[in-house]
Amino acid sequence: MKSETEVRLGIMGGTFDPIHYGHLVAAEAARAAFELDNVLFVPNRLPPHKKDYPVSEPKHRYLMAVLATITNPYFDVSRIELDRDGISYTIDTLRALRQVYGSTAKLHFISGADAILDLLSWKDVDELLALCYFIAATRPGYQLSDQLLKLQKKYPNRVFRVEVPALAISSTGIRCRVREGKPIKYLLPEPVEYYIYKHGLYSLKK
Ligand code: ATP
Ligand code: MG
Repeated sequence: MKSETEVRLGIMGGTFDPIHYGHLVAAEAARAAFELDNVLFVPNRLPPHKKDYPVSEPKHRYLMAVLATITNPYFDVSRIELDRDGISYTIDTLRALRQVYGSTAKLHFISGADAILDLLSWKDVDELLALCYFIAATRPGYQLSDQLLKLQKKYPNRVFRVEVPALAISSTGIRCRVREGKPIKYLLPEPVEYYIYKHGLYSLKK
């Protein structure tokens, strides 16, 4: 078993409504490239930037994340933000994880190219970048270069890029497809597909 000093943890935050192969492939690419021991998926309770649609119940988003990650021995799902009241600020999560894993653990926050665009406006961003490394994953439709250079200049050796096999999949797209009765097969793990239909998620009539 590794000592605390050697632990390299990935943290993938998101709404995961629903989780899909874009999330999973980005997390796996980061895990391999940065030799992470584990990646923790952290579904948020209340995203800091209010979504323009009613977000599904935490219970559903948590269970879909568990179903989606069950076949990967390196992936886990954390309830840390779901069990915390109020807005889910990443800084609060990182402070809490730092307490759990100790001062010498290497924490890596993984985020897609779209999410990193407004990183400088995140709560307590300087402390955030002191608590963890930031891994920016490429995502089809979003330019990473300018923002990445800016961040790398401001936070030397704290922000990195990972090349992810391009999957133009989004939760928004999946929700639309369900609403319109279009197939979602092969966009997300099959158990998640079944879960969505079983619980009537994303359809208009509920
Ligand atoms: P929504 O359309 O509801 O915003 P989403 O597909 O963007 O959903 P989120 O839960 O918002 O999913 O994203 C969680 C994290 O995963 C974010 O950092 C996002 O940038 C990243 N991500 C989502 N989809 C992809 C993808 N296809 N490729 C790479 N990264 C992705
Ligand atoms: Mg998103």
